[in-house]
Amino acid sequence: MFRRRARADREFLEVQRKSLALLQMLAQEPRPFDTVQAEASASAGAGAEAVVPDFPPADLRAPSRQDVEGVMMRWMQPLVIDGEVHACPTCGAYRDWIVLCTRDDLVWLRCRVGHQVQEPRLDAAWYNRNSGPVDHWHPTLEDGLRHLGH
Ligand SMILES: [Zn+2]
Repeated sequence: MFRRRARADREFLEVQRKSLALLQMLAQEPRPFDTVQAEASASAGAGAEAVVPDFPPADLRAPSRQDVEGVMMRWMQPLVIDGEVHACPTCGAYRDWIVLCTRDDLVWLRCRVGHQVQEPRLDAAWYNRNSGPVDHWHPTLEDGLRHLGH
């Protein structure tokens, strides 16, 4: 029993040692973002035309939920709220919605024509339960609507 435990301890220490070596190796690798920043400021100082650091590329940057005005998804099928199919109060459309969830945790429904109404029976928790992972970031609401086909 005691011997087996000592072996487990040795194996644990060995794993720790390897992880530490890996961390030290990674720490010595130059970080690409720092490198680009350094080059950008060096050429700016030399009076060359400004170099805009483009690493990581804009569409690879993933802003956190606090950084964006809201999130949106397309909802093709009829939207049932409290057991009733929801219809646009202005034009009566009942399918193909854009569902927006803004930073203040309000949910807005936007029909195909563009009538947009806040829906008090839905909230951010509902949105999170019903939406997939965020896969695109859009600079404007219009850009996001276009991407979603509206
Ligand atoms: Zn409408």
